[in-house]
Amino acid sequence: MKCPACFNELKVLQVGNLSVDACQGGCGGIWFDAFELQRVDDAQEEAGERLLDIQRDPRIVVDPARKRDCPRCADIKLKRHFFSAKRQIEVDQCPNCGGYWLDAGELDKIRAEKTETAAQENAPHSISSEMIRYLYRLKIGEQKTM
Ligand SMILES: [Zn+2]
Ligand SMILES: [Zn+2]
Repeated sequence: MKCPACFNELKVLQVGNLSVDACQGGCGGIWFDAFELQRVDDAQEEAGERLLDIQRDPRIVVDPARKRDCPRCADIKLKRHFFSAKRQIEVDQCPNCGGYWLDAGELDKIRAEKTETAAQENAPHSISSEMIRYLYRLKIGEQKTM
């Protein structure tokens, strides 16, 4: 398979029980088949760690404005869209096979965004239980001084 961004030959990278196609020594992008990305997009998923630092050639600069071809499907262009409702990261996805192309550094951003979202979702609970304990201690303290 050829890299859709810089036309280098993609190399198969095995991470855990997942194999992805990475542009190693090229632009550093990664191709994920449908449903593969979901298995490494969470920072808690260790397998993804190895995909954050793909060896790349710094002289290769990719043009994000150029339409890219799906490396799997003939004559299908990848569509650029936001990865999540937070609209911070744009990714390329094939409308035919459902695979994702991530440029170098995009997986890192996706994982960071997920961690951030998870932290925000958990925060109100931990703050309120902390608050209850704090108020409870205040109350105990008051009783002791009385
Ligand atoms: Zn490339
Ligand atoms: Zn495709």
